[in-house]
Amino acid sequence: MNFFSKLAGHLIIHPPYRGVNALPKAIFDVAWNTLLNIDRWSFSRFEYMEPEETERIQRKKLGVLLKFSQENTKYWGSLIKTDPAKNPYLTLRSLPILDRETLKRNDLSVFEASHSPVWRKNRISTSGTSTNSPVVFYGDKLNFLRMESAMLHIFRLKNGDNLMRFNLEFPPYRPAGTLFSVNFAMQNSANIAKNTLNVLNKKKISHMLGPASSVLKLATLFRKYQIKFVLSGVGVVGESLIEADRTLIEEIFRCRVINIYASKEAGGPLAYECKKRSGWHMNTAHFFWEILDENNKEAAPGEEGDIVITMFENEVMPFIRYKIGDRGRILTEECFCGRKNPRLIFVGRDSQFIRLRDGYAIPFHSLTHFIRNSTPPIDQFQFLQKKPGEVTVKIVPLTEISSALISKVSSTANDHFRGRLHVNIEIADKIPGKSVLVIKN
Ligand SMILES: [Zn+2]
Repeated sequence: MNFFSKLAGHLIIHPPYRGVNALPKAIFDVAWNTLLNIDRWSFSRFEYMEPEETERIQRKKLGVLLKFSQENTKYWGSLIKTDPAKNPYLTLRSLPILDRETLKRNDLSVFEASHSPVWRKNRISTSGTSTNSPVVFYGDKLNFLRMESAMLHIFRLKNGDNLMRFNLEFPPYRPAGTLFSVNFAMQNSANIAKNTLNVLNKKKISHMLGPASSVLKLATLFRKYQIKFVLSGVGVVGESLIEADRTLIEEIFRCRVINIYASKEAGGPLAYECKKRSGWHMNTAHFFWEILDENNKEAAPGEEGDIVITMFENEVMPFIRYKIGDRGRILTEECFCGRKNPRLIFVGRDSQFIRLRDGYAIPFHSLTHFIRNSTPPIDQFQFLQKKPGEVTVKIVPLTEISSALISKVSSTANDHFRGRLHVNIEIADKIPGKSVLVIKN
């Protein structure tokens, strides 16, 4: 192994800002851009490291995290009984799975590390739109910095490039790009197209990152108003795109679209596509991955299961064995692109689509938007699809909804899909099995 690989490995294990608690924030503020570039560089080397080296780094990081959590948090302190540095994997596997229910059941203070400075803490609540189960937690601003550096690397941003985060509440320490959000429900489509184009021009945007549904909507509007804008890259998060939608976005912006698997809890990219588009490369520099079966036991290699991640970088509120609510399986063969980090194949994300009678799939978000636009606020949604072309939507409204309004919304939806989808809306008091949004037979 050459000097630079060794150095990169060392920087991944010991990021230059570990122990930054002791540094005045003002100094960190000045240094953040340099730190971002150091992180980005080490991440770019990490992708090409041999599996044994990755394992060595992961083992070290896991040991450090478990020890830190044992010593600094009530919750993990009560669960980790032995010295985790001896055998981090064994210690990890002895721990229970952390799910959203556990987070909601307990007071946040039991998960929070003592002595974490206020400036590093970021209280975040997820909307729960992709998981159907909102959750509140503390993000670590230094973690956002690391995630930002990984994102910049994934986009291959160069000097002079400008990234726009479109409709994406994403909490980077300092966004290395423009934040721009549009409320699709509040403006007419011509204004949205015009305003967005203005920002793209004014800020000389070269790359865009946003939720798949928003980017797709924007592309659809640009097509409608015959607006052309050339970008160098588009990344979408939230839902994986169906091929037809990806093609549309690529035609409008004249660039490649990459799917990125990210989550708010993670603070950034968990996995991402490369040019080969054959699975998503897993971010093993910042996360320890487990694929577990229904008994929370390790699934056989290549088998599908629940994705459970341990986040190495959040020191404010460690996430250990966190069940993120998605399903997948891991490809172990090396990718043709040359990267050595393993690839993930999503299984769970497909469940976020609803099949029309003719086999075409639409993201369930389009149906939630549709219903949301014509009803009072709704707390929870659940979709049940037993066969293509028919869906039952269970909703838990926040205020009372009349049955007359429900049947009106149902019939408007049915008219909208012109026989390709029959929508039956039901009101429920509570939706069980909260992490499942779309249930299919
Ligand atoms: Zn690849």
